[in-house]
Amino acid sequence: MNDYKSRGAVGRIYDIQGYAVHDGPGVRTTVYLKGCPLRCLWCHSPESQDFGFELGYLDVKCVGVKECDNSCVSACPAGALSADEPGGEFPGSGAAVRKVSIDREKCTRCLKCAEACLPGALYTAGKDAAVGEVFERLLRDRIFFKNGGGVTISGGEAMSQFDFTYELSVRLKEAGIHVCLDTTGFAPEEHFAKIMPYTDLFLYDLKCMDSALHERLTGVPNELILENARFLAENGAALQIRIPVIPKLNDREELLGKAAEFCVSLGESVKLVQLLPYHATGKGKYARLGREYKLKNVEAPDDSRMAQILDIFKSCGLNCQIH
Ligand code: SF4
Ligand code: SF4
Repeated sequence: MNDYKSRGAVGRIYDIQGYAVHDGPGVRTTVYLKGCPLRCLWCHSPESQDFGFELGYLDVKCVGVKECDNSCVSACPAGALSADEPGGEFPGSGAAVRKVSIDREKCTRCLKCAEACLPGALYTAGKDAAVGEVFERLLRDRIFFKNGGGVTISGGEAMSQFDFTYELSVRLKEAGIHVCLDTTGFAPEEHFAKIMPYTDLFLYDLKCMDSALHERLTGVPNELILENARFLAENGAALQIRIPVIPKLNDREELLGKAAEFCVSLGESVKLVQLLPYHATGKGKYARLGREYKLKNVEAPDDSRMAQILDIFKSCGLNCQIH
């Protein structure tokens, strides 16, 4: 298993999470790939968006520059790190702790500080791994794949690293493991055609039926996404459509009605429609990466609003649930 061919294509991943119960049927392990062509304003995985490695900072793990002998600040060739004003006490000692500040304008992402930070407060978001390594890791979780579970390949946009995603899907299917592909649908049709035989279920996002608004909310128009959904449905793929509900942005009655009509038009391929109510749990991750969270004033939709939206889809005969 050590030759290049058995290792397969190399992918850039940012996490592998076992015991996932929200990423398709049953108990699953989800592989998150890094990089996405979309920039959804509500994205709760900002660390998945950029295709490159990124510097993250988890200040609760930072024990302070004095304790670390200034190692991170000294490691930075760009002068992008500095010691903050005392920000708290070192546990048990009462000593003042000076944590670090990152000047993101100066940072060149050389990641030398993450290597120097032994407590792991500064960390590299992203890791390269070959299909073979990831496959071996996933096999270790196989005993947990219960109730129709298996592996979900997610992102970012997994289809943007197509060779890796395709090869991993083939190996999983050949090993008899159920494969879900979580996708924005924003990828070439020929890639969907090629991967379809090795995907048991597509978790397919439908973010907004108005293309101009879709572009304002996500950075790309929706035509390709809708065309790929039609292509998959016409060719017998199984689809679980996922619709994020973002108050005042994409939850107009007329848009939701069009989304329901579109799901109906895809016929029996649509096994389930899931409504995903907006939540702001990813907000802290933006701070860790030094990015701005743009939806500061959006509130989660309440239960009665979600029940109304559920009715729109159910009244069209769709199998629909709030996720
Ligand atoms: S960022 Fe890391 S190396 Fe720097 S002071 Fe904090 S814990 Fe120490
Ligand atoms: S990643 Fe940025 S902050 Fe860290 S050492 Fe390199 S330039 Fe400095």
